[in-house]
Amino acid sequence: MHSSAKVYLVGSGPGDPELLTIKAARLIREADVIVYDQLPGPEILASLPDSAELIDVGKYAGDHTLAQGEINRLLVDRASQGKTVVRLKGGDPYLFGRGGEEAMELHEAGVPFEVVPGITSAIAAPASAGIPITHRDHASVVTIITGHEQDKGAPMVDWEWLAQSKGTIVVLMGVSTLDKYVPELIRCGSDPDTPVAIIERGTRPDQVVTTGSLRTIVDVARKHGVKAPAIVVIGDVVQLHRTIFSQKIE
Ligand code: SAH
Repeated sequence: MHSSAKVYLVGSGPGDPELLTIKAARLIREADVIVYDQLPGPEILASLPDSAELIDVGKYAGDHTLAQGEINRLLVDRASQGKTVVRLKGGDPYLFGRGGEEAMELHEAGVPFEVVPGITSAIAAPASAGIPITHRDHASVVTIITGHEQDKGAPMVDWEWLAQSKGTIVVLMGVSTLDKYVPELIRCGSDPDTPVAIIERGTRPDQVVTTGSLRTIVDVARKHGVKAPAIVVIGDVVQLHRTIFSQKIE
């Protein structure tokens, strides 16, 4: 392996370019190769420097989407050429971003790598909608789950336990399966009046917040045409949205 070869698994934060870390911004500026998908969002992707080789793994060679194995091989390949590679990932690389899988591959291939944590959308999107995910009067437990629990290797979500936990539930990748897990939570004992908020494109200029309760949210989301990427927040803390959101400082 060439001495300067290195892969940085970089979290790009939730989408507002000012929420990139200083380290992420520097590595992006200095990279020979930047490998990205669409999750970082248009504002950050538009600011990637022309000086780097930019590889969109969602639209590789026309419209072919690279499978995870091909992305891993690409990272190893470019690093083997002695390049400094930034693998840019939305939010934090190690939260449902397959960053762990990429790190394992790099480790096995003997490629030096470093993880650069990012601000996760799981916390930043609710915050940007005026929802603190914990609050002493409302929730002292937070569970972050994926709405796509059939994802290979992910252990099943324990809905009974979640319904009993009385904490905040934050769901990533949870739009298309909303009509599966919301009734499941109610069946497992969650109060149907528990407030729910869905934050689309959190921290971006076109952020949209949609609110309802466990009883209403499936219909409300359908009516409003809610789309990914979005964070679903379930719990009493969602009540704070109205008070705090109106005081949001731009
Ligand atoms: N590693 C990322 C999550 C990757 S999974 C992170 O830490 O944020 C992809 C999911 O992240 C999306 O389906 C959506 O649920 C969520 N997501 C990422 N960015 C978002 C944003 N700006 N607004 C709302 N949801 C977002």
